[in-house]
Amino acid sequence: MSILNKFRGKSLWMLHYCTGCGAIEMPPVMTSRYDMERFGIIPMATPRQADILLITGYLAVKTLKRVIRTYEQMHSPKWVVGFGACTVNGGMYWDSYATIKKLELYLPVDLYIAGCMPRPEAIMDAFIELRKGISSGKYEGWKKYIENYDWYKKNQAKLFDVKKWSVNYE
Ligand code: SF4
Repeated sequence: MSILNKFRGKSLWMLHYCTGCGAIEMPPVMTSRYDMERFGIIPMATPRQADILLITGYLAVKTLKRVIRTYEQMHSPKWVVGFGACTVNGGMYWDSYATIKKLELYLPVDLYIAGCMPRPEAIMDAFIELRKGISSGKYEGWKKYIENYDWYKKNQAKLFDVKKWSVNYE
């Protein structure tokens, strides 16, 4: 365990990108009921100062573009947490034309929180696991993104194919 990782795990600033309905479970986690701050995790307003990008549910194709831009503005090391079934396999929107199905095809997800929607207890469990994993060097998705940048960009480009989404008036 590197000394840097050890301390990184104890102070995490989180940008929560509240795209889905599961975001409603975040207020109890962030306030006195569950009090995530006691684990050194606090919300952050800007990507440039955040360590964790929390995606709280389904992502429309358009929204994913903003999420990728946000992720790329964050400094490394950084971690992505997929929150809810929608980030794992599309969840209840599995057959929707408008939402993405697997977040990990476009961004390096370090940890998923299963459920629809996950309860605050599950979120707290995930934060504790994330802290441990960061301290031990287990979660290094940000390195994976750099090493496989072409693969991620190819998947993103395929999804954002302008011709595929535009209406043909001919
Ligand atoms: S996993 Fe469930 S609660 Fe979360 S965004 Fe999807 S439908 Fe909503």
